[in-house]
Amino acid sequence: MDAVTRAGGLPVAVGHDPALAEAVLKRLDGLVVTGGAFDIGPEYYGKEAVHALTVPKPGRTAGEVALVRAALARGIPVLGICGGMQLLAVVLGGTLIQHIPDAVPGALAHEQPNSRDEAGHEIAVLRGTLLHDVVGGERMAVNSSHHQAVLSCGRGRVSAVAPDGVIEAIEGGDDFPGKSWCLGVQWHPEFAIDPGDDKIFAAFVAAARKDRG
Ligand code: MN
Repeated sequence: MDAVTRAGGLPVAVGHDPALAEAVLKRLDGLVVTGGAFDIGPEYYGKEAVHALTVPKPGRTAGEVALVRAALARGIPVLGICGGMQLLAVVLGGTLIQHIPDAVPGALAHEQPNSRDEAGHEIAVLRGTLLHDVVGGERMAVNSSHHQAVLSCGRGRVSAVAPDGVIEAIEGGDDFPGKSWCLGVQWHPEFAIDPGDDKIFAAFVAAARKDRG
């Protein structure tokens, strides 16, 4: 919420009752999904087996899925952060890696041992993407506090990867419904470690303001 404020937005917290999602979205110009210390239930992406280290939070995920669906349907800008990016991928029809160390040989330490206000690894931002337009470069130093990752992003497309191939950002593709502003980042840009981090919030708030007219 501080990062949205710094970018000139007016942050408000919303609840997780799926039945209220449509009504809530009518009053918002943009939606940020923050993630947290929990995982999306594998049933949301067609997997029955649950990894021992997967920790679902069913009520919150149900509410956030409803909010993201409603935002995308209304063309409201969406910024997914960390678990919020993973949720965005799943809503777009994608799938997740349930535990990176078990699925990616030679993976980086995506649960970085150092403080979250320091970088954990670099990422490569892909040219021709919304993220590249927003941050204006091909390299970012980002923090990393996740044991799951996006495996595929359905109707979206990949906009950044880590050196070990783990997907670090996704966005709406060219055939995206309504071509609304839609970005997910696996790191936490609210820590403003890389010069690109504040640009992400600035671009999100600008998109929300533009859509409001
Ligand atoms: Mn990472």
